[in-house]
Amino acid sequence: MAYVNDNYLKLKAGYLFPEIGRRVSKFAKENPQAKVIRMGIGDVTEPLPAACISAMHTAVDEMARRETFRGYGPEQGFDFLREAIARHDFQSRGAQVQADEIFVSDGSKCDTGNILDILGKSNVIAVTDPVYPVYVDTNVMAGHTGEADSGGRYAGLVYLPMTEANQFVPALPEQKVDIVYLCSPNNPTGMAASRSALEKWVDYARKNEAIIFFDAAYEAFITEADVPHSIYEIEGARECAIEFRSFSKTAGFTGTRCAFTVVPKGLTARTSTGEKVELHGLWNRRHTTKFNGVSYIVQRGAEAVYTPEGQSQVRQLVEFYLENARLMCAGLKQAGLTVYGGVNAPYVWLKTPNGLSSWDFFDQLLSKAHLVGTPGSGFGASGEGYFRLSAFNSRANVLEAIERVNKFVQG
Ligand code: PLP
Repeated sequence: MAYVNDNYLKLKAGYLFPEIGRRVSKFAKENPQAKVIRMGIGDVTEPLPAACISAMHTAVDEMARRETFRGYGPEQGFDFLREAIARHDFQSRGAQVQADEIFVSDGSKCDTGNILDILGKSNVIAVTDPVYPVYVDTNVMAGHTGEADSGGRYAGLVYLPMTEANQFVPALPEQKVDIVYLCSPNNPTGMAASRSALEKWVDYARKNEAIIFFDAAYEAFITEADVPHSIYEIEGARECAIEFRSFSKTAGFTGTRCAFTVVPKGLTARTSTGEKVELHGLWNRRHTTKFNGVSYIVQRGAEAVYTPEGQSQVRQLVEFYLENARLMCAGLKQAGLTVYGGVNAPYVWLKTPNGLSSWDFFDQLLSKAHLVGTPGSGFGASGEGYFRLSAFNSRANVLEAIERVNKFVQG
């Protein structure tokens, strides 16, 4: 007899995006004439930068010739990409990250889940509320939680609320935690952590021998000078933080797949008998055992992001989405809504009007404005009463969506 991993049975059945999909399909079936605009799922809409396409074409041609063909590459990523990342994303900002501390992968979603492989079962884990659901669900799968309560909060996790009341800056936990997930710029709130907020977290982590999982998937969208691009811009972070980055939102690689994780040498955690062990070695072991590398072609495409042409094309891409976000914030404010985010991130987080629940607002917006967003409560109990709109869309759709929200709010 084979046995399942019982922890999977603790996962809440109605995961957010399938439920949205179900409601939208039902509406579309019943209203075939309606032109539904989807601003729910955070996927990019614009094609890859020309520099990446050109580099990938060249790499495809290399694969066609015996002399330049490549089979398995290094699991951790090719040196050309790791070195470009270290130089451009970290050293140029004064963050001391070396190429051999970078592990190239096929996604931050996988990495933020897989990282749990190298950490023990007894850690006290803190997540923000609302939260990118992957952090919670992967902990449930790994058996780090009890059952969920009626509000969807799992026993054993420490939830750090992020609401209007604290301006979406999570307070340091009152109890001692061992691991904390921080995402800045944040999905779903679209808000970003200031330098001083991150300094407090690094200080907390060092005092408590805790580890920060810092997810900077939206780093490219930072516009404000006070927002660090990397946790390693904060002194002492190398001793207490692992950083996750992705080309998905930076360069439109959501379908192409390339990301990386930084595990600094010298970052340690304790064995069950109390000795310190370096996490770099453990992650290297995990990565090389369970992963066989990102394709050469894709890594050449990612490398091209760091060329002068790539940089300017990526900037244009990011600016395009940021302008969408600016238009959305301005338009929604004009409609009388309270909005957050959208300045350092491609997400706008609005307060539902008239005290509507997140799902009621979703249903009304869909039926009356034919507009799809993401109910805040799907990201956690503290997301109730909020709603996420994504700026990943065409300009025409964004402008039309703003007009529809205006009409909808005015009733
Ligand atoms: N981290 C956050 C906060 C995200 O919002 C997403 C995607 O939406 C990811 C990670 C996933 O990134 P990737 O496409 O590299 O798996």
